[in-house]
Amino acid sequence: MKILLATHNLNKIKEIVNALKDTGYEILSLNDFPDMPDTIEDGDTLEHNSLKKAKEIYKFSGITTLADDTGLEVEYLNGEPGVFAARWAGEGCTYADNNRKMLRELKGVPYEKRKAVFRCVITLYGKNILKISEGVLKGHITENSTGFEGFGYDPIFIPEGYNITLAEMSLSDKNKISHRGLAVKRMVEIIRQMKKAD
Ligand code: IMP
Repeated sequence: MKILLATHNLNKIKEIVNALKDTGYEILSLNDFPDMPDTIEDGDTLEHNSLKKAKEIYKFSGITTLADDTGLEVEYLNGEPGVFAARWAGEGCTYADNNRKMLRELKGVPYEKRKAVFRCVITLYGKNILKISEGVLKGHITENSTGFEGFGYDPIFIPEGYNITLAEMSLSDKNKISHRGLAVKRMVEIIRQMKKAD
């Protein structure tokens, strides 16, 4: 049996392929489907977007599909940017634009009020299959951008219990604690159970 990962992101692919390597599933990604139409992620929840992505790609490919969606909820900003994390600073913005906007919005806000949570929802969708897993990572938004690893908001996010940003951690250390790492781990467990029941 095959599972199609709804991403082009090589780090995500590597992480999931690695986690599923001994399950016997053949893992494909969107890099194997250059003609796949893009999904418009226009839902206002992570659940909605990851399900929409998984469904559309399954319908196009006929292969059981695994799709993720991540948001960043900042307490001081009443949960913003949430599900709109990718294009928060405007259409076509870069990760650096988003980070600059975040540091601007939180300028002068004390550390204890800079709490933030990454939340990742993963959906597996196929014939008679609908499974969902979730992972969260709590932390704080820094006052400056620090570190060069990772992507997105990593340089301005310090996980709870650490004094370095996600962008100062190796990818494998980040994956052990991250929202997506936890959601992947839970989904891998679900996939193993499915395989056993086959
Ligand atoms: P996606 O659903 O994985 O595409 O994530 C949406 C947006 O959330 C990305 O464009 C990033 O800005 C941000 N994001 C997702 N995961 C991470 C992460 O692990 N670290 C930092 N930012 C992330």
